[in-house]
Amino acid sequence: MFDTQALGSFRKSGEIVARLRKEVQMMVKPGVQALRICDELEQKMRDHGGKPAFPVNVGINEVAAHYTSPPGDTLTIPAGCLAKIDFGVQVDGYVTDTSVTVCFEPRLEPLAQAADEALGNAIRAFRPGVKLSEIGRVVQSTIQKYGLRPISNLTGHKIERYTIHAGKSVPNVGGMNGTRIEEGEVYAIEPFTTLAKAAGAVVNGSSAYIYRYVKPKGATTEDSKKLLAYIQSNFSTLPFASRWLDKTFERETAKKALYDLIKHKCVSAYPVLVEQTGNPVAQSEHTVLVNREGCTILTGP
Ligand code: MN
Ligand code: MN
Repeated sequence: MFDTQALGSFRKSGEIVARLRKEVQMMVKPGVQALRICDELEQKMRDHGGKPAFPVNVGINEVAAHYTSPPGDTLTIPAGCLAKIDFGVQVDGYVTDTSVTVCFEPRLEPLAQAADEALGNAIRAFRPGVKLSEIGRVVQSTIQKYGLRPISNLTGHKIERYTIHAGKSVPNVGGMNGTRIEEGEVYAIEPFTTLAKAAGAVVNGSSAYIYRYVKPKGATTEDSKKLLAYIQSNFSTLPFASRWLDKTFERETAKKALYDLIKHKCVSAYPVLVEQTGNPVAQSEHTVLVNREGCTILTGP
């Protein structure tokens, strides 16, 4: 259970996210640089009194999650694509997490619609005592009604202070998980959809641009020790981007130091996640607070 102050921070974080969800629709257009979307959105979070809870994710087509612009990124939003902008704000370590899918190809519109409807149905079913597997069943059946497929190995998640994935998962398919929703918990619910002919699963891509602090001991150089201290004090246990180190560290120095930290498991890297068969993926996500009768959406109306 969160106290009044914690709930106030969650609400403030959610209000910032809800406001930015509207702006994302205007920002994302073919030809716009992904780096600009990341930088601008993260700056707006700070302007409104929050901090990015993790680097803004820009997922184009089959890229389902964990792509953020590396320093100097030249990627632009392609014509005729489906783009997922997944972002979150933290206030005092209390995180709300959301995602908006913007579609520039009419044929792919149903993927976004199905994800939105699955999220709506999941939220309506989300209340204390309900099994998380029941939410997965609701998500799966909604998506299948569209003749589409959910991504089975990506899930929503319970949120705790400074912890985005806090143990309990919200599946996007039915199953045997008997874990139940409890009053006072905060969850991100995030259905992902793809085409029926797709595998409906993600695999690790070859690159990683998002990182997270793991442990304090093991850095071998002065630079890597300095970088680790910086990471710990600025991002705590929340994910960060190598872009975020640019203001304080020279780029090559940071690159080498980060490599040392990953090698010695002081920092872990999140590989970009892509749909196994290269098919497009849409996503819809809100963060909710569970109350006695149901839940309230923190990241939207
Ligand atoms: Mn998210
Ligand atoms: Mn999430």
